[in-house]
Amino acid sequence: MSATKLWGGESFSGLGYEWDPQWVLTERQKALQAKLIELCQSDLRVNAIESDKNRVYPRKNFQVLAKHGFLGLIVPKELGGMGENHTAAAMVVETIARYGCASTAMCYTMHTGAVAAALLRHHDNEALKDILRRIDKDCLIGTLSYSDPETGSHFWYPISSGAEETKDGWHVKKKASWTTSGGFADWYIVQTTSPNFNGNYADLSCFLILGDEASYDPANWNGLGLRGNQSGPLEIDRVVPRERLVGPVGDGARSNDEVVDPFFLLCSSACWSGIALGMIDIAKAHTTKKTHKDVGMRVADYPTIQDYVGEAIIDTNVVRSMDFMIAKALDDATKGCDWSLHKDDVTVLPRSALLHWLWQLKFAAAKNVAHVSDKMLHACGGTGYKPELQIERYLRDGKAGWVMGPTNEVLRQFVGKASLLGFESLDYWNTSINERVINNEIKKMDADAKRALAERLLAETAAPARRIA
Ligand SMILES: Cc1cc2nc3c(=O)[nH]c(=O)nc-3n(C[C@H](O)[C@H](O)[C@H](O)COP(=O)(O)OP(=O)(O)OC[C@H]3O[C@@H](n4cnc5c(N)ncnc54)[C@H](O)[C@@H]3O)c2cc1C
Repeated sequence: MSATKLWGGESFSGLGYEWDPQWVLTERQKALQAKLIELCQSDLRVNAIESDKNRVYPRKNFQVLAKHGFLGLIVPKELGGMGENHTAAAMVVETIARYGCASTAMCYTMHTGAVAAALLRHHDNEALKDILRRIDKDCLIGTLSYSDPETGSHFWYPISSGAEETKDGWHVKKKASWTTSGGFADWYIVQTTSPNFNGNYADLSCFLILGDEASYDPANWNGLGLRGNQSGPLEIDRVVPRERLVGPVGDGARSNDEVVDPFFLLCSSACWSGIALGMIDIAKAHTTKKTHKDVGMRVADYPTIQDYVGEAIIDTNVVRSMDFMIAKALDDATKGCDWSLHKDDVTVLPRSALLHWLWQLKFAAAKNVAHVSDKMLHACGGTGYKPELQIERYLRDGKAGWVMGPTNEVLRQFVGKASLLGFESLDYWNTSINERVINNEIKKMDADAKRALAERLLAETAAPARRIA
């Protein structure tokens, strides 16, 4: 690999490799990164403009990626994949977002999450193995469909969805409020409450659903940024064969903590850092070219602009370092992303122990991209406000970071609450009772109010049991 970063055979106009933590990558990963930069220059960046303008799903970009084996990045070699690890996944998403297309990077993030969910439980499942073997040859794009219209960003709480066992398999009913690659994916991993649901929303199961089994209308998708990623509402209501259950019944929470959340948080954070770097690259190229004739200075000669860029590089590299540090911890915990660890025991969950680090990472990455995009817009002035420079598109794309679930408000609270009160206080499924709040509110009541409350509670205990929540 050349020590000089190349763009279409010429020296790259943004930050060079000396500002990238190349030492975290193996020689093979560096070669993959250089190949990706080439593909971004030749195809992905051009398609990004079209995707953004016309809300075009970036299948063309996926076809380019599939041709070079990137859809099977973390698929083991024996199934025809590259057998790569968490570090490679973070590098690939960051590279696509930075030099190519942020919509593609987000769709690739969701694809990687779905591939990880499939790999976790593929060992005895021919339907999953078949997809994984053909993933690049047939360009089979996967995605995750979790978020529920009733519970917003609490995507682990699928109130509107469920599944029942039938004589032929499973009747899966899914209502998703958002699904990246919705309607365009070739396969979905969806989460519902488990068959024989008894009111316990922690009892979740995952199913494999094929592209033509889901209903989606592209007309329902519109957004400020990531406009090619097609994240509209999706519905499924059909019986699917028995082997479409991913893992055992009730495996949903384990799958979420072990692969869906870790890969989503690791890779989406890399996407936000990639967007931040993409804007710094553009700002460098622009401000070192544009001159003010009256003072004979380039924009980059003003110390204010140097400060903006300096701070943006430092903050972004802090977040990238955290991303690659956590990727390494995940690699170490899984013997380099060895999926055979999960073959015989569904309770082997090494990634889950690192989840609270991934929460911190996503918060930091989404916060950083919002700040950097503002400052790079300021550095480029009015020219940055216009679409031609592409800062404006990146800025809109980066805005998705903060609001995507788990949202930054939720993550900040998870970290603060878990650190102060313990992990059990997080109460994802709203089942534990906060006696302090109850006692405090009762304290405010007079005797009549207390009596009325007691009578209401007694009447409720006489009524038939209700579902939780
Ligand atoms: C571009 C994009 C792509 C997406 N792709 C997917 C996908 O592929 N699959 C998928 O399943 N989902 C996807 N989502 C959905 C996403 O994960 C969230 O579910 C969605 O953004 C929530 O939107 P909402 O309007 O329901 O927010 P709400 O949940 O209604 O949030 C509104 C506000 O309340 C705050 N809030 C919520 N809960 C709490 C709390 N407990 N404490 C404090 N504050 C809280 C939020 O932080 C936010 O500020 C995508 C979203 C976006 C923007």
